[in-house]
Amino acid sequence: MKTAVYPGSFDPITNGHLDIIERASNVFDEVIVLVLVNPNKQGLFSIEERVELIKRVVKDKKNVKVQCSSELLVNFMKTVNANIIIKGLRAVSDFEYEFQMALMNNKLDPNVETVFMMTNAQYSFLSSSSVKQVAIFGGCIQGLVPDEIIWDIMEKIKQKY
Ligand code: ADP
Repeated sequence: MKTAVYPGSFDPITNGHLDIIERASNVFDEVIVLVLVNPNKQGLFSIEERVELIKRVVKDKKNVKVQCSSELLVNFMKTVNANIIIKGLRAVSDFEYEFQMALMNNKLDPNVETVFMMTNAQYSFLSSSSVKQVAIFGGCIQGLVPDEIIWDIMEKIKQKY
């Protein structure tokens, strides 16, 4: 069975992420969406909340699982017996960072392959941070994130800002 791991911060999940999850789930037997703890970033949502939001959005996709980890990615991959990392690529600006990460992960574990999927053109401008900015300043985030989580984002922003 080919299991792929799609790691990220997902703070919160956007329609760009969801598009990659759907496409990856058509290619691999199983996709694990992995919320990674980034000690340098103070998030809008806690790690547990992000996992809950993603679970809600992918609940009908039978071969998609959601987990979180504070481990090194290649070590987590061993625990779930996976050797494929999925990454989404938006603009050229994503490339340099992702290229470096892919080489580093491959250096840490030569069995690990990173597979890149090009963003859907309609989401190429979309990031979690731009969604948060729009929401904080009262803009409409419909169409940018799944409908089922819009309320949660607006409520969280009301509490925090
Ligand atoms: P963001 O940059 O939105 O904060 P993450 O750090 O959670 O996202 O990114 C997780 C993965 O999803 C990365 O591989 C990133 O390139 C990819 N990704 C993020 N937004 C999009 C998008 N709009 N289209 C395709 N891939 C995306």
